[in-house]
Amino acid sequence: MIEFKDVSTIYDNDESIEILNGVNLHIKDGEFVSIIGPAGAGKSTLLRLLTREISPHRGEVILDGVNLAEVPSKAIPLLRRKIGTVYQDFKLLSAKTAFENVAFAMEVCGADRGEIESDVPKILGIVGLGDKLKSFPHQLSGGEKQRLAIARALIHRPRIILADEPTGNLDLVNSYDVVKLLMKINELGTTVILATHNREVVNAIGKRVISIEKGKIVRDQVENGKYVI
Ligand code: ADP
Repeated sequence: MIEFKDVSTIYDNDESIEILNGVNLHIKDGEFVSIIGPAGAGKSTLLRLLTREISPHRGEVILDGVNLAEVPSKAIPLLRRKIGTVYQDFKLLSAKTAFENVAFAMEVCGADRGEIESDVPKILGIVGLGDKLKSFPHQLSGGEKQRLAIARALIHRPRIILADEPTGNLDLVNSYDVVKLLMKINELGTTVILATHNREVVNAIGKRVISIEKGKIVRDQVENGKYVI
């Protein structure tokens, strides 16, 4: 469903430095894939190609058989609704409650009041925040903030969740809560791609691990422990 074919990227038209360099990758529907590598390895860059925040300098990124370079600009919002994103710094609206943070994501996509009133409490219940609807982000723990961000990412029922260092600001206990939630979402059928530098997080998941260093995939270990690269 997701395919990277010999993908290289540069920034600022500087062809002398390739951030990703000849990445080949295939991710099937419903997989849970962890991408691990040190800071600066190119993990975020890889995720940003999928939302077409950036485009490859060489090669192709293909989603559901469509080369993302060929998606017209006006269809990009639709593409992004297929993909929920979660970040290290949560990106919550501080003046809005948990309910309103999720509701806002629905409002901007034209949802009506009835849908919002019915869907938001349901999704907040799924992430374990059913009793925090009226709490503002500053009244939530780090783990709760991230679970709220995940609820917001789920509201359009995306087929893919991209989580970029989602446990980066969390302690161990909260990190495991977030990982468990991502695994539950995956078990319900959503493809999850998690980028992290944290080996403990990846080991706790026990699924496919792609190691990336200096813009190259150096190892791709599938679930049963068989190395494919
Ligand atoms: P990671 O997520 O693994 O930490 P990134 O994909 O964020 O790595 O970054 C990979 C490399 O690309 C780093 O060297 C970083 O400095 C560089 N980079 C990232 N974003 C930009 C940008 N907007 N302009 C120039 N260089 C960038």
